[in-house]
Amino acid sequence: MDRAIQLAGLSQPELISFLETLGEPAYRGRQLFAALQHRRLRSFDEMTDLPKELRARLDDVAKASTLKIESQYVSNDGTRRYLMKTHDGLPVETVFIPEERRDTICFSSQSGCPLQCTFCLTAQLGLLRSLTAGEIVEQIVIALNDAYGIGVKPPRGTNLVAMGAGEPLLNLDSLLEALRVMADPNGVHIVPNRVTVSTAGVVPRILDLAKTADRPHLAISLAAATDELRNVLMPINKRWPLEELLSACKVFEKSLKPGERLTFEYVMLDGVNDSDEQARQLANLLNRHAIRAKVNLIPHNAAEPLPYQPSPAETVERFKNILESKGIHTYVRRPRGRDIFAACGQLAARQGALSGTPSIGATN
Ligand code: SF4
Repeated sequence: MDRAIQLAGLSQPELISFLETLGEPAYRGRQLFAALQHRRLRSFDEMTDLPKELRARLDDVAKASTLKIESQYVSNDGTRRYLMKTHDGLPVETVFIPEERRDTICFSSQSGCPLQCTFCLTAQLGLLRSLTAGEIVEQIVIALNDAYGIGVKPPRGTNLVAMGAGEPLLNLDSLLEALRVMADPNGVHIVPNRVTVSTAGVVPRILDLAKTADRPHLAISLAAATDELRNVLMPINKRWPLEELLSACKVFEKSLKPGERLTFEYVMLDGVNDSDEQARQLANLLNRHAIRAKVNLIPHNAAEPLPYQPSPAETVERFKNILESKGIHTYVRRPRGRDIFAACGQLAARQGALSGTPSIGATN
């Protein structure tokens, strides 16, 4: 991109300062923030409350939006999947999931991912680059506008989950910046308490997040309860093995608010990590560390080049029952958007099968 400033990731005070450098009064900054974040406009042309001359100057030095929607799909269950491109041509993928009580947007924090989880297709892309705060905010704006209409207030409120492509804690600064922008009541107004960040286990950043005021909720992708298996499924475990990870979770626990729990996610892989014995190992691991947590069992969605199959529903149920019998709060996550390959681990499973458009996908 040229040196134009990307405005979607700027807070209201930052936009005010930016407009002041152009000789504009503070109220113009507030107007611009409302146009970008509250009315969710993506071009200066649409901001007709700003003088034409100012819009032309903004066009010269800044960008109201940078992501381009390449294609989108709507599932039979209402899930919507967006394939976008950054200004430098990298893929970004976002999924909107309608739910009974509150809709959820699953966004990406990176294009590709540097981690090598063997059950995830994004791993095969490697890291293309981390997304900017603006690119994170734009994903949400695009999904909200498409689902409800441009600038229309979400009728049931919105949850955000950083569970798309990338390891969010390897892009923590931009992520927190984006969350600060979105929390503004004069803008998108989604507060961190409505946001869950899922990590493969970047221990130092878990500790940093624990110290962050107004932090989002945290989910840890476990996938295995022994180092031996986790080293294979999630090689990040060789860097930060389970004991270190769980100790960091114990520190994080101190930052939990009343009623808040840490989430452990466990993707269910047929014959790999779903035996009764492995359920007991998982329960013992969590009970030994006595962390205020719940477990989400995630049915794996088969993705052709990957060597895993989903655990049968009865196996998932048995696994859940064993965990619950040992006092672990356990939930089974319902797969969504399977027909448009938008479910966890499926996003890249049919690369190009829908439209010839390259896509990415993640499961953490
Ligand atoms: S599961 Fe998440 S952390 Fe692991 S490779 Fe995929 S995107 Fe990266």
